[in-house]
Amino acid sequence: MATCGICKVRKIDVNAERMRGFCDECSDRTGIWWSIESIPPLRPVKPCVRCNHPQLVRSLMRETRGYGNGSVVAPMGLAYDVTEFWGNPTANDRAPQGAVVAYACLQCGFTELYTWLPHLVPIGPQFGTEIVDVSTSLDAGPFR
Ligand SMILES: [Zn+2]
Ligand SMILES: [Zn+2]
Repeated sequence: MATCGICKVRKIDVNAERMRGFCDECSDRTGIWWSIESIPPLRPVKPCVRCNHPQLVRSLMRETRGYGNGSVVAPMGLAYDVTEFWGNPTANDRAPQGAVVAYACLQCGFTELYTWLPHLVPIGPQFGTEIVDVSTSLDAGPFR
């Protein structure tokens, strides 16, 4: 049986644990819900656009909420699912939609952000998202 890739102690036996390589406890406490290796490349394979350095750090962006025992570390989402809570639309902080992955240049620190599975991000005012389509204005733009 495989062992958790974070604590190196607990056995991982359920399917979800095996897929990410971490036990539920570690995944919950670190906010690493998916192993970085399981996320496909999101950035074109090229050096830093600013200084041309060939090495970058890739990171699953996370955020923390709350304090002390009530704090939560979770992946940062481009948006959050919204559910009804006592009749009120409420962002579900356990349901980030579109994980944000950063690529930071090891030399100059310039950082690019990419969203994993952007086509699955919900669109609407309740999610704080909208579609920006520049295809109709390209022909009349000043850079033509
Ligand atoms: Zn663990
Ligand atoms: Zn750089």
